[in-house]
Amino acid sequence: MLNVLKVRIYPNKQQEIALNRNLGCARFVWNYYLNKTNSQYQEIGKGMSYCQMAKDLTQLKKISDYEWLTEATAATLQQALKNLESAFKNFFEKRAKFPRFKSKHKKQSIRYPEGCSIKKGGLALPKIGVVKAKITRQITDKIKSVTLSKTSTDKYFACLLFETEDKATISKSAECTDAFGVDSQSSRVVGKISGIDLGLSSLVTVFDGEKTYSIDPIKPIRKYAKQLRRRQQNLSRKVKGSSNRQKNIKRVAKVHEKVANTRADFLHKLSRKLCDENQIVVAENLNIKGLARTKLAKSPTPLAPLLGGDGGGFGMLLNFLSYKLEREGGLLIEVDRFFPSTKLCSCCNFKNNLLTLSIRDWVCPECQTHHDRDENAAKNLRQEGLRILSTSQPRSTLKLSEVEVPTNTEGHSEFQACGETVRLVNTCIKQQVSMNQESPVTASA
Ligand SMILES: [Zn+2]
Repeated sequence: MLNVLKVRIYPNKQQEIALNRNLGCARFVWNYYLNKTNSQYQEIGKGMSYCQMAKDLTQLKKISDYEWLTEATAATLQQALKNLESAFKNFFEKRAKFPRFKSKHKKQSIRYPEGCSIKKGGLALPKIGVVKAKITRQITDKIKSVTLSKTSTDKYFACLLFETEDKATISKSAECTDAFGVDSQSSRVVGKISGIDLGLSSLVTVFDGEKTYSIDPIKPIRKYAKQLRRRQQNLSRKVKGSSNRQKNIKRVAKVHEKVANTRADFLHKLSRKLCDENQIVVAENLNIKGLARTKLAKSPTPLAPLLGGDGGGFGMLLNFLSYKLEREGGLLIEVDRFFPSTKLCSCCNFKNNLLTLSIRDWVCPECQTHHDRDENAAKNLRQEGLRILSTSQPRSTLKLSEVEVPTNTEGHSEFQACGETVRLVNTCIKQQVSMNQESPVTASA
């Protein structure tokens, strides 16, 4: 199993200069070949491949004007070219935007595909030597590669990639197969299974089969919002291109960094807690990209900074949960987002189509149960997770009559942001189509 450890490194002055030079060379190589492949494309209608670029780079290094490129570790420059090639590939396969030129003032990184090791408690890098590092975990395995990055606030980090055979994983997964083998009603399930509903008023609502509880989003981020506003105002008054402006850009970046760190810390702790308490967690498969394009991402709720510009809060949480559970032999089940978790009654399965966004609690007209919106959703998600487990069908198969296209786009996957309806983008419809095709039942809609 591949494992990554991100550590902060503290290069001394000399090492910092050498590192910055290497970062600069890699940046230059990226920008130079991005420009070159662009102009070649305009001339002959074909860009450059990695091989062509790498060959060209070797020639370029021999020209006296570009001799300084040899100061950098050659492998890191080749890696930059490989990254450029995959950036183009991602663009052509519509996964990413067109590759952009890299700036000296933004986050920068280089990758050492080989030659790195841990020595004397520090990190040994080619051409740079042993850099002081805060290595929090003992790594006995061979390091495969190291990605070194410099943030816009001048901090250095190294991501160490190494292969481990985690003993904890093996022992726990043996237990786990047992848990998966039993049917949903049985009490033989070893670990706990919880359904979690993601929302705005409370970040997560957890139902573990016995009780429900909710966890509120973090508040201290408000403090930073004010700071950010003031610093951004200051920045806007500075003359473009001045060194004062550069200084202020850094000050703004520092606040952003604080917010990001606070958010990551909170989500790490939350996912750790959920992972420790449960063997299996069931959550909605959210359309994070869709969320980001809605009003929600810009909503003036205290949570907006937590979500980030990209709706990253939920996505990050699910990501953390997924790998933490997997590492310990657990499982994150993502229920299809067309599953109407908020609308179903968790007692009698009555589907309440009258439920609007502003209704926080409701009484089921069928069985008269009083429901809290989030708690009910968490219960439904857990139930659905159990069903998926027992049929060992990873995908949620709904009765298609229930999946009416128009109502479902504003169905359970809708979110409440100050009472506003948030519509998801048409990717829902696309997914819908693929689901219909895979289902044995033909769609009536
Ligand atoms: Zn009911």
